[in-house]
Amino acid sequence: MNFIDTHCHIHDPEFTQKYDISVNQIIINAASAGVSQFICVGTDAKSSQQAIEFAHTHNGAYASLAIHPHEVADVTDELIDGEFKLVEQLARENHKKVIAIGECGLDYFS
Ligand SMILES: [Zn+2]
Repeated sequence: MNFIDTHCHIHDPEFTQKYDISVNQIIINAASAGVSQFICVGTDAKSSQQAIEFAHTHNGAYASLAIHPHEVADVTDELIDGEFKLVEQLARENHKKVIAIGECGLDYFS
């Protein structure tokens, strides 16, 4: 049986540094558990770009673009508008690898 990880951040170097693991090892571990595809979720324009780059360079990887609600708490409306326009442009330009818009809900964990 093949699984798809529908929400991961393995494209983000902060993730691999935090857990002291390489992307290759993550993919190997995932494959041994039957996970063959990944949807890498960006949380702002920069990490959405990283998710796209990851998707273009790793088989079975796709990108979900987003601006997480936590990322907009301390920025201006103009900056947020610019981020949304960039995310929209990225989605249009990379439609073969961008398959979702994510992080749209409100988190109540903090
Ligand atoms: Zn997430």
